[in-house]
Amino acid sequence: MKRYSLHIAGEAVAPHSGSWFATQNPYTGEPWAEIPRGNAQDVDAAVVAAHHALTSGPWAEMTPTQRGALMRRLGDLISRDATKLATTEVRDNGKLFAEMNGQLNYIPQWFYYYGGMADKVQGATLPLDKKGYFAFTRHEPVGVVACITPWNSPLLLLAWKLAPALAAGCTVVVKPSEFTSASTLEFAELFEQAGFPPGVFNVVTGFGSEVGTPLVEHPLVSKISFTGSDATGRLINEKAGKLLKHTAMELGGKSPNIVFEDADLEQAAFGAISGIFAATGQTCIAGSRLLVQESIHDAFVERLLGVARTARMGDPMSADTQVGPVTTPPQYQKILEYIEIARNEGATAVLGGDKGTGPECGNGWFVQPTIFTGVTNGMRIAQEEVFGPVLSVIKFKEEADALAIANDVRFGLAAAVWTSDIGRAFRMSERLQAGTVWVNTYRAVSFMAPFGGYKDSGLGRENGIDAVREYLQTKAVWINSGAVAGNPFVMR
Ligand code: NAD
Repeated sequence: MKRYSLHIAGEAVAPHSGSWFATQNPYTGEPWAEIPRGNAQDVDAAVVAAHHALTSGPWAEMTPTQRGALMRRLGDLISRDATKLATTEVRDNGKLFAEMNGQLNYIPQWFYYYGGMADKVQGATLPLDKKGYFAFTRHEPVGVVACITPWNSPLLLLAWKLAPALAAGCTVVVKPSEFTSASTLEFAELFEQAGFPPGVFNVVTGFGSEVGTPLVEHPLVSKISFTGSDATGRLINEKAGKLLKHTAMELGGKSPNIVFEDADLEQAAFGAISGIFAATGQTCIAGSRLLVQESIHDAFVERLLGVARTARMGDPMSADTQVGPVTTPPQYQKILEYIEIARNEGATAVLGGDKGTGPECGNGWFVQPTIFTGVTNGMRIAQEEVFGPVLSVIKFKEEADALAIANDVRFGLAAAVWTSDIGRAFRMSERLQAGTVWVNTYRAVSFMAPFGGYKDSGLGRENGIDAVREYLQTKAVWINSGAVAGNPFVMR
């Protein structure tokens, strides 16, 4: 089995614990590589290296233009190695090669976009209301950033944090998910090839309690940028609050995908399928609540079934496969439990509703694409994040009804509206409580479009032109150009 190393201060190093743990292939169910079991000592070494790179040496002294050039070179190296990195991700998380390869070929754009922004971070001169001063602002890196990432799209979700952080001049320590650490460790090797000074990018792998906790609590970490479940996000935010650290939280979702009777129903059916069965439902933006207007409900469900019944489970590396395995055994159990909960709540499984066990499923953790009808919005299956290929279909009568149901949930990551009425598209997009609203499409993301959650789906925004600000702090500088000291006991 392949044995990986931690990446600290530009070196591949063994963990202080002297132990490694196995990572499994979700399709074969077999271990395929050994991941270093990091601990607080490794975290300390990585954070000290990141802090050193931040405060002295070549990274600290580099011009922003030079930083941007390094980022563009990194983008080129990711392009060069996209297939290799995508293959590693498939082996570790079981998502389709087509999906991961698409992501890996797209990730360089984050480093080009934010690399171009590195030397466009400008302060301002301030037209003060006081005479005799010249004042201006400087935007400085916020400090060492801890990036904590989930298992579903390891490198894409890391790029959303890393590219703006590097553009801002920060240095980074990453703790990837214990289930999918391999691609982040392989990615780390590209940093020194691109010419980044040691310590700018560090990776410590391991478990939440052994690596995540000491990383969050480390006094030299200034900001924690987290993507994961809202339960872990709350825990981290509580600690970070006590320690007065900056945070950004990208958390879960229970997104409504709303189909009106005037929609292009064929397109809407594809949108509903891609919203829930792509990535085996393991995406934060899964359109797991399908709200369908009563007048078209039965016909639309039939149409949906027509497409969904043909969804092929199988080897995620095969170009024919449309639904891969679930990434982790605990997640697999959780999805099956939610299917049981939905049945007990009185919902009807009109498709799937069980494990995938055919020969095409290998020894993998497969769940059949599942559609529940007869769901009402108060049911747990309509309110809680399943993170699997399980769709809840909910009927509504009119627009106001759809809006009320859509917003009646504690999450607010994304929402979609399918309609041919432009007025309705505007009304709905204004009133839906979600960080992203799609009209007549689903699951579109870009480095240019801000992304993040309303309500319990998170704090802060990733992507878009303002994301660099999330990694900067502002300093106001006052220069006395002739103000005369007055009464020292009165504010100037
Ligand atoms: P998770 O919360 O279990 O784990 C996320 C990361 O946090 C992992 O690296 C984990 O090891 C680490 N961690 C766990 N306990 C910790 C602790 N006490 N201190 C510090 N770190 C700790 O989430 P997951 O199961 O890996 O990912 C699935 C979740 O992520 C879903 O809820 C999904 O919606 C969410 N997600 C959100 C987005 C988004 O952009 N909003 C994107 C993808 C996934």
